Amino acid sequence: MKPCTYCKKKQAVEAFKPFCSKRCADLDLGQWLTGGYAIPTLEPAPSAHENPEESDPYRPANDHE
Ligand SMILES: [Zn+2]
Repeated sequence: MKPCTYCKKKQAVEAFKPFCSKRCADLDLGQWLTGGYAIPTLEPAPSAHENPEESDPYRPANDHE
C-alpha cells in the first residue's frame, strides 16, 4: 500500500486510491481545478475609505424641497 497522494500521512485505501479518503480525493481534485486558474488577489480600492460623501455635512438629507 502506498501512502495517500494528498496528505501522505495515511495509507491509501482501495476505494479511494491513490487517496486515503474521499476527503483527500476531493481536496486534491479541488487543488487541480483551482490551480488551473490564476486567481487574482482582489485588493480593496485604495480610495474606498476616503469617500467624501460619507462625511459631507452639506449633503441634503432629502431633496424634495
Ligand atoms: Zn489522505
